[in-house]
Amino acid sequence: MIYQGKAFKVLEYSEGIAELRFDLEGESVNKFNQLALEDLDQALAAIEQDSAIKGLILSSGKEVFVVGADITEFVANFRLDDDTLFGLVMDVNRLFNRLEDLDIPTVTAINGTALGGGFEVSLATDYRVLSTKGSVGLPEVKLGIFPGWGGTVRLPRITGADNGIEWICTGKTWKPEDALKIGAVDAVVEPEKLMQAAATLLQRCIAGELDFRERKQEKREPLKLPPIEAMMVFETAKPFIAQKAGPHMPAPVTAVKTVQKHASMPRDKALEAEAKNFVKMAKTPVAEALVGLFLSDQFLKKQAKEWIQQSGPVEKTAVLGAGIMGGGIAYQSALKKTPILMKDINQQGIDLGLKEAGKLLSKRVTKGKLDSAGMGEVLNRIMPTLSYGDFGGVDVVVEAVLEKESVKKAVLAEVEEQVRDDAVLSSNTSTISITELAKALKRPENFCGMHFFNPVHMMPLVEVIRGEKTSDETVATVVNYAHKMGKTPIVVNDCPGFLVNRVLFPYFGGFSQLVQDGADFRKIDKVMEHFGMPMGPAYLLDVVGIDTAQHAQKVMEEGYPERMKTEVKTPLNVMFEQERFGQKNGKGFYIYEPDKKGKPRKQVDERAFELLKTVVAEPREFSEEEIIARMMIPLGLETVRTLEEGIVQSAIEADMALVMGIGFPVFRGGILKYIDAMGVDQFVKLADQYAYLGPLYQATDGLRQMAAGGKRFYN
Ligand code: NAD
Repeated sequence: MIYQGKAFKVLEYSEGIAELRFDLEGESVNKFNQLALEDLDQALAAIEQDSAIKGLILSSGKEVFVVGADITEFVANFRLDDDTLFGLVMDVNRLFNRLEDLDIPTVTAINGTALGGGFEVSLATDYRVLSTKGSVGLPEVKLGIFPGWGGTVRLPRITGADNGIEWICTGKTWKPEDALKIGAVDAVVEPEKLMQAAATLLQRCIAGELDFRERKQEKREPLKLPPIEAMMVFETAKPFIAQKAGPHMPAPVTAVKTVQKHASMPRDKALEAEAKNFVKMAKTPVAEALVGLFLSDQFLKKQAKEWIQQSGPVEKTAVLGAGIMGGGIAYQSALKKTPILMKDINQQGIDLGLKEAGKLLSKRVTKGKLDSAGMGEVLNRIMPTLSYGDFGGVDVVVEAVLEKESVKKAVLAEVEEQVRDDAVLSSNTSTISITELAKALKRPENFCGMHFFNPVHMMPLVEVIRGEKTSDETVATVVNYAHKMGKTPIVVNDCPGFLVNRVLFPYFGGFSQLVQDGADFRKIDKVMEHFGMPMGPAYLLDVVGIDTAQHAQKVMEEGYPERMKTEVKTPLNVMFEQERFGQKNGKGFYIYEPDKKGKPRKQVDERAFELLKTVVAEPREFSEEEIIARMMIPLGLETVRTLEEGIVQSAIEADMALVMGIGFPVFRGGILKYIDAMGVDQFVKLADQYAYLGPLYQATDGLRQMAAGGKRFYN
């Protein structure tokens, strides 16, 4: 043993060859936290002083190579002043430079995933050998930043500017063959041959067969690209990347500009240029939001894990109703390896459910994500049935029959007779109270809500709704099932609309009032899409279904009459009365005609404006700012109410639910993060400015207190 620290060890691998092994104590993965960086400094000092070392392999003692920098340290670091943050980044650069500048050949043996800083450290060695089980990439842009530890400097110098830019700006994780193709790694070998392959490479360097010094030199010099070519590469990349990234994501374009800027510089100057721009990106609200979301996601995963410890078995499940949702649930469960009975009352329903699952699976086969044998296996896990015959062996049942309380109660009571006493029952209802449905059951403690979003295979969120009598074990079992299905469960308490629909309908309320006051719904859609929503509210209502929305609106009005009941006819009511149900019957706020692929294409329909004339004031221009304010205030205030009432337990869960459930823009990090970014006091002021619009715009006392106390939702 040449050196032993808490993160790095330096061992003798074979004569003259040392192994610098990253194996972070007490962690399941390697990440560059402060401790690891300090330890690398010590380990390098030991190597620098040992003249017997003639070659060095950088390796990992974990299954992954290195997942990257420790993102939990980002929040505090990104809040440091510019100079201090710049200093921190440059400290790491100096460290990696020392690795690069060792006067011996170095190679990284990448045994698993090497991402971000984990891949960047490997770029500082002369060679990289990658296991067939490994993968590499620079995902930083997904966090609103770009590689700041030499990634933008070294990768383009190793792979050429165009490849480097593609890797940096897409943030993708690449397979071994992709990495080999562009020269990001020098060899790909089977896992068991990895260390030997790395050692052989070093021996060839030591024997003088390979010129490792030239490798080092290439990375210290400016990028080898003639000026005209350089201009072509960068100037064509910029608009292309800008368009792909969209108006709200500045990091990818700044990354290209950074590479362009330091292309003519030697390494040390180039690293400074990179660090300067990195600091700029780290300070953007987008980076703050995206880093926050990453951490929130980790938090949710940890929470789910804790729940799962209390879970009952989830080996075999059942869904009642093979409709849009039931079919989707069966598909998702089977895909993720939990066998599922799919029961309907008529064969037609079952045929439809199976057809839908078959279609989705065929798509996966076409995309190469599944082979036909795999497809058969998945389909075999869906067991269609018209009877309760096999329900005795079922652990969890999801009810997804039509949205009618009396029917659901009858079906739930019926299935309760067929399952074991400890089986868990759940309902995918969108609007009916879980506590109310539980009244039909003998074992209400074994029942809760399991609210999926449409389309099930695409939407990551599942609201797990706890009724008054739901037991912890029931919640845990359903959380476990959602997790097994690859979904993100968020546990909420029962209330009309649960969490997501409860805050979505006030947003639609804001939309209705704007239209009634003379705003053009197309403009509202455009503004909200520009704000970052996946679709504007009129379009969203058409997609959800005007009839479905009308029904849910009624439930919300009954649940919250003081805020949500309206005396006047709304644009939604008009569409409903005219049987313009949205995409499902080809007309709503817009009209829809199938495109070449058969997908409904939205078009403007003058008739919609004619119909709305009966409920709207004279057309009037609204500024973008006013539209956003009038849409965000009701959404924000209702979210605050759910938090204050304990419907949802934390700001993190509320924001994550909105990001996953309604596509609230990720770069804004969620509505509560949005309020934080604006300042709680400013948000209250804005709400007060629009308070004349009615109760949806009345800030809560709790929020006023937060504003007065200078508090935030996130610290
Ligand atoms: P759907 O009409 O497509 O499907 C309902 C299915 O239930 C039909 O196949 C019907 O034959 C079957 N069914 C009726 N009575 C039954 C019984 N007694 N036993 C077994 N099967 C029976 O409806 P959907 O859109 O899939 O909605 C189902 C549930 O999911 C509803 O509660 C709905 O509110 C909820 N939901 C729907 C969406 C959505 O966007 N469609 C989203 C979230 C939740």
